[in-house]
Amino acid sequence: MNDTPFADAALRYAESGLTVLPLCPPDHAGCSTSHRGRCTKPGKVPLVNWSRIREVGASQDAIGRWARRWRDLEPLPGACGQLALFAGDRR
Ligand SMILES: [Zn+2]
Repeated sequence: MNDTPFADAALRYAESGLTVLPLCPPDHAGCSTSHRGRCTKPGKVPLVNWSRIREVGASQDAIGRWARRWRDLEPLPGACGQLALFAGDRR
C-alpha cells in the first residue's frame, strides 16, 4: 500500500522517533489552490498542520495519506534536529 520512496523512508524515520514533515514542492505540483495562493516560500512550507504534527508526530495513517496525495516527495538531505523533511523533487 505504501509503495512510494517517500512512504518507505518516512515510516522508517517515524519509527526511529523523528518527526516527518512534508514540504511543498518548488513548482507546487499537486498542491491545492489555497496553498498556492498563500505560500510565499515554494519548496519550504509544510503541506500539513505543522503545529499538530509537532505535538503528536506523524501517524502511519497520515504518512500513507501523504504518500498517496503527493507521490513525488523525496527526503531532503540534512534533516534538521528531530525533523525528517521531505519535498517534491521536480524542478
Ligand atoms: Zn508552497
